[in-house]
Formats: sequence, C-alpha cells, structure tokens
Amino acid sequence: MNVSVVLFTADLRVHDHPPLRAALDGSRRVVPLFVRDRAVDAAGFAAPNRLAFLADCLHDLDAELRRRGGRLVLRSGDLVTEVCRVAAEADADEVHLAADVSRHAQRREERLRRALEADGRRLHVHETVTTAVAPGAVTPSASDHFAVFTPYFRQWAQQQLRDPLGAPRTVRVPDGVGSEELPSRAGLTGVAEGLARGGEAEGRKRLGAWLRSGIAAYEDRHDDLAGDATSRLSPHLHFGTLSPVELVHRAREAGGPGAEAFVRQLAWRDFHRQVLSARPAAAADDYRTQHDRWRSERSAHEDVEAWKEGRTGYPVVDAAMRQLLHEGWMHNRGRLLTAGFLTKTLYVDWRVGARYFLAHLVDGDVANNQLNWQWMAGTGTDTRPNRVLNPVAQAKRHDPDGAYVRRWVPELAAVEGPAVHEPWKLRGPDLEALGYPEPVVDLSEGLTRFKRARGRD
Ligand SMILES: Cc1cc2nc3c(=O)[nH]c(=O)nc-3n(C[C@H](O)[C@H](O)[C@H](O)COP(=O)(O)OP(=O)(O)OC[C@H]3O[C@@H](n4cnc5c(N)ncnc54)[C@H](O)[C@@H]3O)c2cc1C
Repeated sequence: MNVSVVLFTADLRVHDHPPLRAALDGSRRVVPLFVRDRAVDAAGFAAPNRLAFLADCLHDLDAELRRRGGRLVLRSGDLVTEVCRVAAEADADEVHLAADVSRHAQRREERLRRALEADGRRLHVHETVTTAVAPGAVTPSASDHFAVFTPYFRQWAQQQLRDPLGAPRTVRVPDGVGSEELPSRAGLTGVAEGLARGGEAEGRKRLGAWLRSGIAAYEDRHDDLAGDATSRLSPHLHFGTLSPVELVHRAREAGGPGAEAFVRQLAWRDFHRQVLSARPAAAADDYRTQHDRWRSERSAHEDVEAWKEGRTGYPVVDAAMRQLLHEGWMHNRGRLLTAGFLTKTLYVDWRVGARYFLAHLVDGDVANNQLNWQWMAGTGTDTRPNRVLNPVAQAKRHDPDGAYVRRWVPELAAVEGPAVHEPWKLRGPDLEALGYPEPVVDLSEGLTRFKRARGRD
C-alpha cells in the first residue's frame, strides 16, 4: 500500500508538523485531508469569524502543499466516515492525527481508531503538535493533572522539548482522491469588519515581526490596553498555523524578560489543556463549585444585553466588548475585566459569557475560553476565587490616559484624559450631550450582592 492519510484538525501548517513528517517517512505517498466535521457545526462551534479564518487557513495550507507537489483534500460530513472513505479510496494503511484535548476530540479519536482497525488500518496519534508539553506529561504525585498553575509551570519549564521540524520538501499525493472545493470568506455573513487574516504564511510573518520588535517589551507592556502590545498570535495557535513547540524554542532563543513572560503565557495555554484533558466536563460544569445560584441569561436579560452590546455605562468594559464585535478578538486585560464584570458585578452565570465569547472570538477555544471564564468566575483554578476586579480602578491602571476607551467608544471620544473612565462625574449638559448610558449597576451594590451570594458578607 505505502500510502498514509494525514488528518489535519487544529494543526493547519506544514512547518513543525510531526504527523506529516511521520506519514512521509520512507517516501510514502500521503493524502493531506481536512474534514469539515458536521458534529462541530451541530455543536454551535462554527462561528462566522472562525469560519472565515479557517477558510484562509485551508487555502494557505493547500498552497503550501502544492508548492511541494501535493494538495489538500477537503471533505465534509461525519469525520469518521469520511476518513475511512478516503483511506479506502487511497488504499492507505495508516492515518496520522494530532492529539487533542476536548471531550469531542477524545471521542473522535476513539471512534476513529475503532473504525480504522475494523478495516485493518492503523491510527497514529501524535503528541506535542497542538501543545508544547503534552497533557499528562507532567503531573503532581497525587493526581492526574495540576489544578494550580505555579507548580505546573515549575515542572513544565524543566521539560526538554523536542526540536522543531522543518517543512517537508516534497509531498506526493496518490491519484484519484477527489476533493470538495475549499471554502472561502465570500458568502459568509456576520464576519467582524476588523478580523485578522488567517493562514500559516500570515502566522509566520506575524511571528517574525513579533520576535523582531514586540517580544522584548512584552513583560512591561502586555497589560497596556491602548498599546496593543501583545503578540496577537492566539488565532494562529488555535488553528495550529503556528506550532507551540516552535514558539517556545524561538522565544527562548530571543531571550530576555519579555520572552520569559511570553513563554509563561504559552505555558498557561498548556496548563488549561491538561486540565480539560483530565476533566473534559469542565467545558460545561464548574471545575470547583462555589454553589452559586447565578442569575441566568433570561432573568438578567437587560444587563446581559447591555454587556453584550457594550453599553453597560462602564467605559472600559464597553470598549472591550466593542473591540470584540469589531475585530473578533479582545485584549487579555479586556477579557479579564469584561468576564469579571459579568460574573461578579452582575452575578450572571459564566456559561452565558463563555457562550457569547465563543460566538465571536476568532481564537475561541474550548480549553482557553471555558477555563479562563471559570478562573474569572472563581469556579476554576484561581486560588483566590472571590477576588473582584473594580473596572474603574483597572481602567485607570491599564488605560491611564483613556486612549483605549476613546478608540472604541466614539460617544466619549471628546472626553480628554482619564476623566473618560468616569463619565458620570462630568457635569450637567456635558454628560447628556454625549449620549453615553448610565451605569447598569452601582459597583458597591454589585459587590454586596456577590459577597452575599458567596456567603462572605
Ligand atoms: C474570559 C477569558 C476568555 C478567554 N478566551 C480565550 C480563548 O477562547 N482562546 C484563547 O486562545 N485565549 C483565551 N483567553 C486567554 C487570553 O486572553 C488570550 O489568549 C490572549 O488575549 C490572546 O492574545 P495574544 O495572542 O496577543 O496573547 P499574548 O499575550 O501574546 O500571549 C501569547 C499566547 O499565550 C497564550 N495565552 C495568553 N494568555 C493566556 C491565558 N490567560 N490562558 C491561556 N493561554 C493564554 C495564548 O495562546 C496567546 O496567544 C481568554 C481569557 C479570558 C480572561
């Protein structure tokens, strides 16, 4: 037979791609396959911003493969059925796949293994394709995963990472395996106006620029909302157009405190993946319950709508929510503030916010999104689950001049300096003329409600 199938999922690249390299071993022919999995669509994960980014990624992957003599084969339907069908058409004896962590991915892998084995084919699953350190590679003595980041990071940082692999020179695809047409951005509705472009070439360009001129200042500037001085590599990590192993190596080569702080964030990504891998239910259920009786989307309808649309009356919260709608992406400090505001100040169920973020974020990711939401709600891995961020104090600290707010909230564009963070303090006609809403909640009332709910009053 001498033919392998490489099933691409969240690893849409040719550089540092262990499944592709293993499949090509011994000059085998390879079918590079992507399946538009109907189950992912049915579960509501096919958000327009991610579909648009995915379309870019698939075109780019196809172009990279064609440059090497190959091409991408696209199918849609039930993933297991389609992989088995393609393997049969190509007379392949093995399928290579990157390991992944969600319950969906774990079940998919198991179903695929059984179906392929029933046909006499083998499934090879490769670790460290979508993470730098594999989930489960480091564990505490008494558990199957780390529940606290700091001890995890201590062990994570000591792991010897494999060397990054170069892109293959040649990819030979067997004849006679048909493909559907690749999807395109055209025809998609609801895509954010300022959405970034996807694809490996774009990711590598962004990475190069980041290493040259962004990473050195990362430690000092990562929380500067207006400075926008983070890497913006998250969608590339989500779709796997960049390899986390390669990123850690290249950041370490760059060296310095900025690179160290950046590598620590990549470890946070692995941390959440090892939590989800061991506890897949944490995508929907409290990881550590605080016995909350949250306000639901229905009972807090008006507050939730104001939060979603960026008209809570708290300028920094509104700026961040509007950035999300405009770009399909939000600064990390904005994510912390808006999630804290929804769960603690408005006391709304974290799942309401997580669902809304997943509907818009181009990097929307089950592990990172759900577990960061749980962190902010105090039901996750935060060792101080009842801490509450004050949006005004945070705004003054991380947007000291108010430039971030003025960028995203045009009603407030004429208010100079940090006064923009407290429009309710502006006098009389000034405030009315702005057309900016009153706060939906008084911060101290929100705090009292939260403390009472958590039995801390
Ligand atoms: C409520 C909430 C929801 C979030 N949802 C997502 C999500 O769906 N997808 C997602 O990728 N990130 C999510 N994050 C984490 C973080 O906000 C983003 O990864 C980051 O803002 C992306 O921007 P960047 O690439 O410029 O990050 P940088 O600051 O440049 O960091 C580099 C990379 O490290 C990883 N990283 C950074 N911060 C975290 C973190 N707190 N947890 C895990 N990994 C991190 C990301 O992969 C990121 O691309 C969420 C955070 C919060 C508070």
